[in-house]
Order: sequence, then C-alpha cells, then structure tokens
Amino acid sequence: MPAETLRIVALYPRVMNIYADRGNLLFLEQRCRWRGIGFELAAKEAGEPLDGEHHDLYYIGGGQDRDQRLCAHDLLETGREALGQAAERGAVVLGVCGGYQLLGRSYALGDERIEGVALLDVETVREDGPRLIGNVAIEANLGGHRIDLAGFENHGGRTRLGLGQRPLGRVLKGHGNDGDSGMEGAVTGNVIGTYLHGPLLPKNPQFADWLLATALGIEPAALAPLDDRFPDLAHGDALRVAGVGAG
Ligand code: GLN
Repeated sequence: MPAETLRIVALYPRVMNIYADRGNLLFLEQRCRWRGIGFELAAKEAGEPLDGEHHDLYYIGGGQDRDQRLCAHDLLETGREALGQAAERGAVVLGVCGGYQLLGRSYALGDERIEGVALLDVETVREDGPRLIGNVAIEANLGGHRIDLAGFENHGGRTRLGLGQRPLGRVLKGHGNDGDSGMEGAVTGNVIGTYLHGPLLPKNPQFADWLLATALGIEPAALAPLDDRFPDLAHGDALRVAGVGAG
C-alpha cells in the first residue's frame, strides 16, 4: 500500500466538465501513479452529501450558465458547509471558470443572481459585451512560488475582486478576470479559482505538482521528479500560442 494517497472529490463532474476539464483529474492520477502515490477519486453529484474532512482536494470544473444553474442551489444546500470546513483545515479547493464563479459570492445575469459559496471574495457579472475568449497566459504567485500558467478562456462573466482579495496572478496575455484589470483568478489560502481551461493541468505540470504537493501537505520539491518532456512541450507551446515565451 502506498505511504501516501491523494484523495480527490470532483463536484458535479457530469455537468461541470466543459472543455474536458476532467482531464485535470486524469493528469493528477497519472502523476500519482508514476510516483507510487495512491489515488482516490470520489464524485459528488446533486443531492449527494459532501464530506468536508475526508478529501485532500476539492475540484469543480467549468460549465455553461445552464449547467451552473443546475448545481448552484445544490452546492449551497449540500456543499457550502463542507467546503468551508475543507478550506479551514487547509485542503485544496480548485474551481475552474464556472466552478471559480461558484466559489465566489455570486454570478449575476441580468435580473438573475446565482449565489456562490463565497470562499473567494469575488463577484461575477454577465455584462453586455463580447465573451472573453482566447489563449491566455498568466504569471501566478502561490505562496512565494512564481509559476507561469497557460490556458484557454471562454467566459461571458466578468469577475471583480473584493478589497483585499488576492488574484491568482497577473495577466501576461489574454483577458483574465474581466478584460481590463490585468488580474486573473483568485486565491485565499489553498482555495484557488481560475478561468484557465486547457484542461489546465496537462499544460501546466509545475502547477499540477504544486497542487498535488500542497494537497498532501508536502513541499513540491519533495515530489519525485518525472520525465516531463511532453507536458513541458505542451506548456511551452501553449505559452507561445498565447504570445508569451521564446520562439
Ligand atoms: N458560464 C460561465 C460564463 O460564461 C462560465 C463558462 C465556462 O466555464 N467556460 O461566464
């Protein structure tokens, strides 16, 4: 039996899986397997309970407005308290795009207001104007670790940070939270929200390992190195496509 096991729960994986965001979990699974770290994946769908004590990483992917409506109410009813407990004890909570918006305070679409779990002090508004679409690169700052992230964004919502809310990073290319603040995502403790799809992790192995290590309560440097030639190529290409990096 492996000494360590990464225990992940995916929230609403059936609906919150736009752009194959589930690929993020497959990537983590493979990296655990290569290192001899155990991997446990649970799912929470609507109506099912969520355990705030058991898992190391709580994950919610992106979705269309329609998909977010389907799970937002349930998230408040059956997920809010558990996610709060998880965040409190330092578990990693990661939300991508629609999932990021639901980790915030609210997502307003005209007269409609979809309430989020407010683990991040952000508010999202679906304003008039084009969707923010395209390749994106950011410089993230995670507890002193500077990590360049590359991905793809496609969101109608504009997200604004509350006073004192740290962004995940600075936009190098692309739109980020709202297209004009120069900020992308949000981070509070180990709760992270970002607009980057890709899926995010296969294009950003360094970030994947940061998440994996943080979820296990160890330093990223303590993880056995892997042959990352292919993920590194994907990362470099994604940065180049976004217009950042050499070549
Ligand atoms: N429905 C949200 C928006 O358009 C999120 C989209 C997504 O997850 N890609 O802003």
